[in-house]
Amino acid sequence: MVERRLIAVQGVVQGVGFRPYVHRLAAAAGLVGSVRNDPGGVTIDVEGNARQLDDFLHRLTLQPPALASIARVDIAPAAPRAYHAFRIVPSETSAERADLQPPLPADIATCETCRLEMLEPANRRFRHPFITCTECGPRLTIVRGMPYDRERTTMGAFEMCAECRREYQNPADRRFHAETIACPACGPTLEAAHGGNDPAPLLHGAALEATADALRAGLVVAIKALGGFHLACDATSETAVARLRARKRRAAKPFALMVRDLATARALCVVSEPERELLESVARPIVLLQRRTGASVAPSVAPSQHTLGVMLPSTPLHHLVLDAMDRPLVMTSGNRSDEPVVIDEASAFAALGDVADLFVVHDRPIQVRCDDSVARVVAGDVRVIRRARGYAPRTVALGVSTRIPVLAVGGHLKNTICHAHGSSATLSPHVGDLENWESRLALRAAIDTTIRLAGATPEVIAHDLHPDYASTRVAHEIASELDIQRTVPVQHHHAHVAACVAEHGHAGPVIGVVFDGAGLGTDGAVWGGEFLLANGASFSRCGHLAYVPLPGGDAAARRPWSVAVAHLVSAGLEATRPDSVAERHWDVVQQLVTRPRGVPRTSSVGRLFDAVASLLGVCHESSFEGEAAMALEAVADVGNARAYRATLTGDVPFVADPGAIVRAVVEDRARGRSVAEVAGAFHVTLRDMVVAGCSRIRDASGVATVALTGGVFMNALLLEAARDALTARGFRVLIPGMVPCNDGGLALGQAHVAAHAIREDACA
Ligand code: ZN
Ligand code: ZN
Ligand code: FE
Repeated sequence: MVERRLIAVQGVVQGVGFRPYVHRLAAAAGLVGSVRNDPGGVTIDVEGNARQLDDFLHRLTLQPPALASIARVDIAPAAPRAYHAFRIVPSETSAERADLQPPLPADIATCETCRLEMLEPANRRFRHPFITCTECGPRLTIVRGMPYDRERTTMGAFEMCAECRREYQNPADRRFHAETIACPACGPTLEAAHGGNDPAPLLHGAALEATADALRAGLVVAIKALGGFHLACDATSETAVARLRARKRRAAKPFALMVRDLATARALCVVSEPERELLESVARPIVLLQRRTGASVAPSVAPSQHTLGVMLPSTPLHHLVLDAMDRPLVMTSGNRSDEPVVIDEASAFAALGDVADLFVVHDRPIQVRCDDSVARVVAGDVRVIRRARGYAPRTVALGVSTRIPVLAVGGHLKNTICHAHGSSATLSPHVGDLENWESRLALRAAIDTTIRLAGATPEVIAHDLHPDYASTRVAHEIASELDIQRTVPVQHHHAHVAACVAEHGHAGPVIGVVFDGAGLGTDGAVWGGEFLLANGASFSRCGHLAYVPLPGGDAAARRPWSVAVAHLVSAGLEATRPDSVAERHWDVVQQLVTRPRGVPRTSSVGRLFDAVASLLGVCHESSFEGEAAMALEAVADVGNARAYRATLTGDVPFVADPGAIVRAVVEDRARGRSVAEVAGAFHVTLRDMVVAGCSRIRDASGVATVALTGGVFMNALLLEAARDALTARGFRVLIPGMVPCNDGGLALGQAHVAAHAIREDACA
């Protein structure tokens, strides 16, 4: 007897070859009917006998395509319709199930099968820079609307040739319903041009040759990649790298490298097994790896760093360029110093005209801006530092459920935004620092995209407590545009803790240790060395680092020497001026810290790192936030470091005294202890402070779960030491993994807090 079932599959099931997979299974089982994408996921309509249907349902969840993840399967019986065959039918686009929008997959690095095809001279896609299949290629970055179908991507403008169409329609072909299918006859065209009005741009193979020639000659090439432009140059040539630094006006911040394969990565860096997995994962992030001594890259690639940021090729174009070069390339974001990465030809020519010598472009538009992701392995686990290409827009746990859609706009630096609905959340790709008009435009674009792809208009907006953050102002703008009645301000460090809690799905109170750069506190001071007890929508401050004046406010982050003066004076010591600091600057800072009326005060551990880095002569001025702390971590020897006394005054709330640490650092240096030893002692002192603070809070509250977060915990030495010491004392320790511990994770935390606030109000 013929029976019919309607099967609704939810999860990551679009853009990952799920319909072709269903088609193959159904055909193999002898079933008839159809499969289609719809706004809620994938709907399968099948007919057959009971045994065939059971077999099909069993297999459906058994071996789904590698990149799919099935969240839920609903099955309903229906009246048979006597279908004749099994077909993939056009998508359902009705808005009726918009609240059940399926997650869109992230961009996927070129798969091995496609890469090998590209190397076969007889293949019709030999050296085709836009080769893709159902298992690889762009996704998020080309999507204009949902559901994910070719016509709603920037590939929609390319009409398939007869041969591509045949593959697309053939259930036996691995490009069956590959929405990004293309070939040299019908796909995008690669072009190499010397700027916006090059009269004779080179096409196809000639463009690739020109690219390799320019790179070999030490020139800078702008390459249009998946989610934005890259700037590339020969990483083994000091002249080339120095030229790129000068033109990009980037003093010291390390450049990322792209290498052709794992063997090259291993030649430059030590690659552990989990690091290899991360390098080769479909997300293909930049992985921070320990550099080998004598690694053959130019000194300017990553001055005074013990690590190198390395990634493997993520697109066919990258593979072709790297194969031709056979040496590591610097592959850095195509932008002017603090602006967002450029995504279209016109802005590339305008913004990078005096940076790049050659532009390698094509006619497949980038719809969604998406920088490279950055990640590292700490203590065997992946820690995402910048979440973008390859990860966004994969959903993350919200840690609480909300029936009302929430938008959270993130912080001021390393901005990302978050849309939360139900029990999961979508984080936008990294937007960046909102220091200029261009990045604020990028923030607006990211918000529009996120709302459109989420398919649910937010009814509550969460933002940082700081009224002057660009993101906070945008939150209020959006609230009035969308007529949203409710905005929820969330304290910066509470949001950091909440993000970690959300990711781990922890319920109930948690001790949050937030060591951070800067965030506005509820008392108007600049917080950043915080022990919080957080629970849902509320938190209390149980301890913090004692305040010191912050001369020059936020700008102090670029002048570690000025924070050193503040800490010395607060510790009752004399400050001596480093030779590199101008006398008039020194005098101004001296005045500010000795008569600190109107000067902001801070409890920031990030700034304490800056101060100690300057006291040890490791770094007096930094060209990017965190440079001094990174340098201090790089020199620190914690091997047999003895901790200084971490004095906590008061019960709960307590105050931790940085003065004792600063005095010990100064004394030890005067006594001739090495920079490495003192830096090591400083790290283990902070570890002890974490343990002492958490123990005091546990004694007072009974809470024994700790979230370690905030930008300072990008420091692997400190993170591992604190985690191990807490674990040894019986604490359960939560650490951010797939969501950054820096301000890139704030939006998730804001959404989590807002969702709790909504629930608590509903109960009140
Ligand atoms: Zn492929
Ligand atoms: Zn074609
Ligand atoms: Fe922060």
